[in-house]
Amino acid sequence: MALNVAIDGPVGAGKSSVADEAAKRLGILHLDTGAMYRALGLTALRRGVDPADEKAVTALCLNLPVTVSYSGDGQHTFVEGEDVTGLIRTPEVSMAASTVSRYSEVRKAMVRLQQKLAAETDMLVDGRDICTTVLPRATAKIFLTASPEERARRRFLEMQAKGMPDSYEQVLEELRRRDDQDMHREVEPLRQAEDAVLVDSSNLTFEETVERILAIVEEKRHG
Ligand code: C5P
Repeated sequence: MALNVAIDGPVGAGKSSVADEAAKRLGILHLDTGAMYRALGLTALRRGVDPADEKAVTALCLNLPVTVSYSGDGQHTFVEGEDVTGLIRTPEVSMAASTVSRYSEVRKAMVRLQQKLAAETDMLVDGRDICTTVLPRATAKIFLTASPEERARRRFLEMQAKGMPDSYEQVLEELRRRDDQDMHREVEPLRQAEDAVLVDSSNLTFEETVERILAIVEEKRHG
């Protein structure tokens, strides 16, 4: 069986950056499943499809499947052969991703692809439903979180560095709305799997968080 590390958690818990570094140190690929929902959200917005229109979004997802591939700088996410990696990090796409991810047919298609990728390769996979649904038998399962204020603070600094103009209050508000939508949707809501190890990074540095994750993986592998 491939080495699979599953990490779930809410918006801005640092999953992507922490997961990226932990995967590098483990010498395995990092699958960012949020990027796949983001790619679909972006496609809906670009094609004038309302993200709230389940039928239209489902048709889009089945006709224009999202794919990923890897190059020297990590994961690239594609829709119909177009690399959309650089276009999916805006607040508008974040909210669209959260909305399109509520639909069961969309989730089924995404989960199927994620499971296929992880079955073939050693991988660290991060998202919202990885421990609970995508890889319930993963070698190590982690729920990574932090307080909403700390997550908003980190995201705000990240966005400022990219020259995005949102205020801290706007970032906190968007994060709360997206958390609420992700935790209260009917299909596979975000929750901590019973056997996932909780890592609260509110008072941990980036390095400490990565080390904590590596220690958990080590323990589960060789425990
Ligand atoms: O992790 P990220 O913020 O990039 O994810 C964008 C959105 O995609 C999330 O708000 C969530 O609604 C959805 N998502 C999901 N399941 C996953 C990964 C992301 O529903 N496994």
